Amino acid sequence: MVDALLEGHAQFLRRYVHDERSFLERLAEEKQSPDAIFIGCSDSRVIPELLTTCMPGQLFVVRNIANLIPPHEHPHVSVGAALEYAVGHLHVPHAIVCGHYGCGGVRAVMDSIDASAGASLARWLEEARDAVDATREHAATPDVWWRRAVEENVLVQLERMTTYPVVAKALERGELQLHGWIYDLFSAEIQVYDADRGTFLTASEELSGGLPDATPPRVTP
Ligand SMILES: [Zn+2]
Repeated sequence: MVDALLEGHAQFLRRYVHDERSFLERLAEEKQSPDAIFIGCSDSRVIPELLTTCMPGQLFVVRNIANLIPPHEHPHVSVGAALEYAVGHLHVPHAIVCGHYGCGGVRAVMDSIDASAGASLARWLEEARDAVDATREHAATPDVWWRRAVEENVLVQLERMTTYPVVAKALERGELQLHGWIYDLFSAEIQVYDADRGTFLTASEELSGGLPDATPPRVTP
């Protein structure tokens, strides 16, 4: 398996690097200046650069199980550190939280994951519990519940993002826009949260009506 990965790297050098040598050299010489911080799930099927056709240098990517953002002051600081660096130092103009339908992390919380699955895993996924609980009204139809929980989870994480002072300040100054996305594994389409309509629309629907940002995120009662 690892040999296949190294063979893949050899192909990358032969094809991509060969064609893009001067672009890559320029990137290496300059300070990075990404267009967005992208917080997505670690799921191997959800590849940020692939589904947005992004080049190296465009996305500052954070991936973790269930695309979670622990709130500011939470002992887990990895996501917060990335946010502070991307927003406070790189001044990215956009922050995207991208969930995906069929997210196993969200499903595990629905199915009451416990420490027997792994203590760290269970503790981490507690950060998705608010979204799962808020959509429990759909519990009688698990597939609907799963979709609604995935959607709610994106909105909860957007809201948590605003607990970081660096994000709150950038929003206040109008220097940052927040976006809630969901990738559909079956259609391979991105659904975009439309704050005005309070719902997720396909990216093509959003583009036809202009792409509004999701700021301010919905406030959970
Ligand atoms: Zn996932």
